[in-house]
Amino acid sequence: MKVNYTGCAICDSSWGDLWEEVEGTRLFFCCPVCLRQFRELLERLRTSAGWDSVDELEIAGDRRRRTVRARRGTEELRAEFAFYPDGRLRLFEPRAARPA
Ligand SMILES: [Zn+2]
Repeated sequence: MKVNYTGCAICDSSWGDLWEEVEGTRLFFCCPVCLRQFRELLERLRTSAGWDSVDELEIAGDRRRRTVRARRGTEELRAEFAFYPDGRLRLFEPRAARPA
């Protein structure tokens, strides 16, 4: 699975030292909360899209309002999301994919 951040996979922070294998990929996280956020988001994306795996994640935005574009093969899912301070998913709103 590909992610767009070079730092922490969910917030792009470069500090921290937490490596965890997710979806067969060893990913860097700045802290356990970010790891939880990432797992929660991924799980919701999979459930929402009916996918058993995700090929690529592209995250954008800031702490208050973030969006994700997930891709599996030729399929794509976009959503807006936010977390509680403890890392649980607080908001997940799929957005219709823009017609090509
Ligand atoms: Zn982080």
